[in-house]
Amino acid sequence: MRKPFVAGNWKMNTDSHSGVELARAIADGALDAAGHSVDVAVCPPFVYLQAVAGALSSTSIAVGAQDVYCEQKGAFTGEISASMLKDIGCTYALCGHSERRHVIGESDELVNKKISAAILGGLLPIFCLGELLSEREALETDEVVSRQLRNGLSGLDVEKVSAVTIAYEPVWAIGTGLTATPEQAQQVHALIRKLLGEMYGERVAEEIRILYGGSVKPDNAAELMTEKDIDGLLVGGASLKADDFVAIIKSSL
Ligand code: PEP
Repeated sequence: MRKPFVAGNWKMNTDSHSGVELARAIADGALDAAGHSVDVAVCPPFVYLQAVAGALSSTSIAVGAQDVYCEQKGAFTGEISASMLKDIGCTYALCGHSERRHVIGESDELVNKKISAAILGGLLPIFCLGELLSEREALETDEVVSRQLRNGLSGLDVEKVSAVTIAYEPVWAIGTGLTATPEQAQQVHALIRKLLGEMYGERVAEEIRILYGGSVKPDNAAELMTEKDIDGLLVGGASLKADDFVAIIKSSL
């Protein structure tokens, strides 16, 4: 039985004061749910990670980074390693978020290295993948998602892949107000689980959590969560409002 998992991606939002306030409000609102029936994480900007981790230290809400570099240390000006993130209290790191793939230009190969580096440094990667609108319209969704999945997990053995959470996030649904229908999302989640079964065996495939992300709101979360292969939600915009994020967490139970 996979435990639901809800993660909030704050993107490049909040400041040192409002980030801590938001974290506290989420912790207060989700007190009875987080950690017991649902795993919860928030992913603030790098510079506020430590403050938010401190504010959440007595709660069961975990902290994740929005990105991680693919090397552990050295001459990589401006980058942040998994061991540094672990050191300041991070549990998770997003790898391959669509904004990093399509705004910053990260390739499948780089995402793969980041996933491996995250695991090596003691973090749990949340591996994001998903198709563009043009790819969906050209009926290429399955091909794109399969390629991203295989490339992203390349070289990871069964033991390492158990550390990974996958987040299916159709790019056309991120920050657009367009949500995949539960059926559309379930179709892709089922494909991902089938591919995981081929790559790692049925048992491992049944254990790996696959989150859906893309304009999740309090009014669509519960319906998405009824689908068999949707194990949780990766939430952007709505995770910046404590009430909305708490409502989404509660809808995921
Ligand atoms: C995201 O940032 O991963 C995301 C899904 O954003 P939104 O919920 O705003 O679409």
